[in-house]
Amino acid sequence: MSSIFDHTLASAREALRSRKISAVELVDAHIDAIERLDGGLNSFITRTPEQARLAAKEADALLAKGEGGSLCGLPIGIKDLFATEGVRTTAASKILGNFVPPYESTVTANLKRDGAISLGKLNLDEFAMGSTNLTSAFGGVENPWKRRDSDAKLVPGGSSGGSAAAVAAGLVLGATGTDTGGSIRQPAAFCGITGIKPTYGRCSRFGTIAFASSLDQAGPMARTLQDCAILLESMAGFDPKDSTSVNRPVPHYEAALGRGVKGLKVGIPKEYRIDGLPAEIEAIWQQGINWLKEAGAEVVDISLPHTKYGLPAYYIAALAEASSNLARYDGVRFGERVSGASLDALYEATRAAGFGDEVKRRILLGTYVLSSGYYDAYYLRAQKVRTLLQRDFLKAYETVDVILAPTAPSGAFAWDEKPTDPVQVYLNDVFTVPASMAGVPALSVPAGLDGRGVPLGLQLIGRFFDEETLLAAGSVLERAASFTHRPTIHAGVSA
Ligand code: GLN
Repeated sequence: MSSIFDHTLASAREALRSRKISAVELVDAHIDAIERLDGGLNSFITRTPEQARLAAKEADALLAKGEGGSLCGLPIGIKDLFATEGVRTTAASKILGNFVPPYESTVTANLKRDGAISLGKLNLDEFAMGSTNLTSAFGGVENPWKRRDSDAKLVPGGSSGGSAAAVAAGLVLGATGTDTGGSIRQPAAFCGITGIKPTYGRCSRFGTIAFASSLDQAGPMARTLQDCAILLESMAGFDPKDSTSVNRPVPHYEAALGRGVKGLKVGIPKEYRIDGLPAEIEAIWQQGINWLKEAGAEVVDISLPHTKYGLPAYYIAALAEASSNLARYDGVRFGERVSGASLDALYEATRAAGFGDEVKRRILLGTYVLSSGYYDAYYLRAQKVRTLLQRDFLKAYETVDVILAPTAPSGAFAWDEKPTDPVQVYLNDVFTVPASMAGVPALSVPAGLDGRGVPLGLQLIGRFFDEETLLAAGSVLERAASFTHRPTIHAGVSA
C-alpha cells in the first residue's frame, strides 16, 4: 500500500483490525485531505473534525481490545439530508441554514452503532432536487474529474453530488446518499464510483429530510461494490419509526459478491435505446452485455413498454409529494424566519427568502397538480402510470433475473453547459427514474471513460429485495471493467 489514500473501505477495515494503521492516523489523513482539497471541490457543507478525532481515539481503544463494530474507525461522509443529532443539517437550503436536529436519523444511527466515523455533512442539490448539485444554497460542487482537453469545472451529478465527489476524490472511504429518481446512481456514474439504490423500504426513512416520501430511499456510495455492500448491511433494516420500512432480515451482502452470473438471465430493455443516445453510451452498454455473456450469463431482449411515460409521471408524482412535504417550512418551527405583519405575510416572506428557484418551481408545479380539478388529470394519472411501470418490471422478472442499462444518457458535463431549460435537465434522469417509480433496487458501477476521459456508468436493476443478485452481477462488471482510473483532483496525488 503506497499511500493511505489507496485504501478501500474493505482494505482499511483489515488494516485497522490487524493494527497496521490506527483509526487516528486514518481519520487525520482524511481530515487533512479535506482541508487541502475541499476549498475548491466544496463537497462538504459542514465539517466535524473535532468529533471525528475523538471518535477515532475511542475506536482505537476498542480495536486494541479486538472489539468494535463492523465499521469501527472508518471515515465516511453523510449527505446533508440525514438528520444528525447536534450537527447542523441543512438539506442545502437557506431555509434550514441554522437547523441543528435534536435527533439522529436511523440510517446514520446504524452507521454510528457499527463504529463508522463521520467527517461531516456533504453537499447536495437543495432538498435533493436536481441532477447537477448546482442548486445548493451553499454553492455548487465540483466534480474531481476533468476532461483531458480542458480545465472546465464539471458537475458531479446530483442530487448526492457532494457524496460522489468526496468519495471519488478520496476525502472519505464511503458516504450515504439518497435516491428519489436517480440521485445515488447518476452522481456515482458521473464521478466514477459505485452506488446502490436499495429496494424501497430496505433502509429506514426516519430522520431523512423528505423530498418525495413514496420514492425516497437511502443507499451507500463508495469506491467499490464490496464497500457498498459493507455499508448497506449496516444502513439497512427494519425500523418501527418508519411505517414503510420492511421487516425482513438483512442479508450478509458481502457474501453475494462472488456468486458469479452463470445461468443468470439478463434483460436488455429495448425502450432504453432512446433516440439520440450518444454512440459512446451505446458502446459501453454493449461492452457490459459482452462482459456478462463472457461470464456465463444469458442475455435476453426484453420490453418495458411504459418506459417513455416514466419521466413525465415522475415529475408529477415527485413534485406533488414535495409540495406537500415542504409545506412545513414556514418559519414557525424550523430554520430561518423572515417576519411579516401577519402570519400569512410571515409565511410568504420566509418561503420567498428561504427556498431557491428550483425548489420554488417544484412547489408551484406540485401544488398545481394537486389542486382540485387537476388532481385527477395529473396526479391520479401519474399514479396509474406508476402502477403500469411497476407491472412492466414484474412481467420482465418472469423471464429475467436482472436488467442492464446505462445509468445516464451522458457523462458529466461542464457547469456552464447546464441547460437553462429545466426540462432538459430533467431528461438526464431518463434511465434512473423507472426503477424508482417501481420501487425496485438498482445500482451503478463505473464501466469506462468516454472520449474526453470522463467516467461512464452501467446500471443494473433487480427484483424487489434482491440486492444480492445485483451485487453478484455488478461484481462481474466491476471485475471486467477493472476501473482503476483516478480523477485529476485526488487526495493521493500531491499537488
Ligand atoms: N434528478 C432527479 C430530480 O431532480 C432525482 C433527484 C433525486 O433522486 N433526489 O428529481
